[in-house]
Amino acid sequence: MTIKSRIRTIPHYPHQGIMFRDITTLLKDSVGLRATVQELAHRYKDMKIDKVVGIESRGFIVGTPLAYELGLGFVPIRKRGKLPAETVGRDYQLEYGSDRIEIHVDAIRTGDRVLLVDDLIATGGTAEAAVGLIEDMGGEVVECAFVIDLPDIGGRARLEKLGQKVFALCEFE
Ligand code: IMP
Repeated sequence: MTIKSRIRTIPHYPHQGIMFRDITTLLKDSVGLRATVQELAHRYKDMKIDKVVGIESRGFIVGTPLAYELGLGFVPIRKRGKLPAETVGRDYQLEYGSDRIEIHVDAIRTGDRVLLVDDLIATGGTAEAAVGLIEDMGGEVVECAFVIDLPDIGGRARLEKLGQKVFALCEFE
């Protein structure tokens, strides 16, 4: 409960009917932040990971200290147009419209064993696009790690159907 009990729920944000799971209350808490990073570091320390890749923007907050703790480098996946050097990108569907995520072409080497990190998985669309980007570059996604899984929305099942391993520190209905 250390982690789940520190996550705040904001009803009707950003739209009517959405229960927004807000990790800022977890992050501002010294025990919560440490438990989040340490639990993930404990899980991944012996999995021969080469790089931690985090998805903009809350995936950066969790992924960077995790990479540091594991003694690894961190790679950002960003929204369209934010990365300065040459990129490859993938489009993915949102509830309304589509979006695009990008990664630097020199960020992943063929054969790299990658841990993908984000704060939350809902439909899995963002993570699926991120997995695709990493695989396009010849990387192998060892596992997709999240602070929060919303299992009823089906993202975990979607990634597992693609052969991905998924881990989350807690679940919300
Ligand atoms: P998905 O692509 O539907 O799995 O949505 C996951 C992405 O949306 C992640 O990058 C999350 O940061 C963001 N997201 C969706 N719902 C929430 C929420 O309730 N709290 C925080 N982030 C969310």
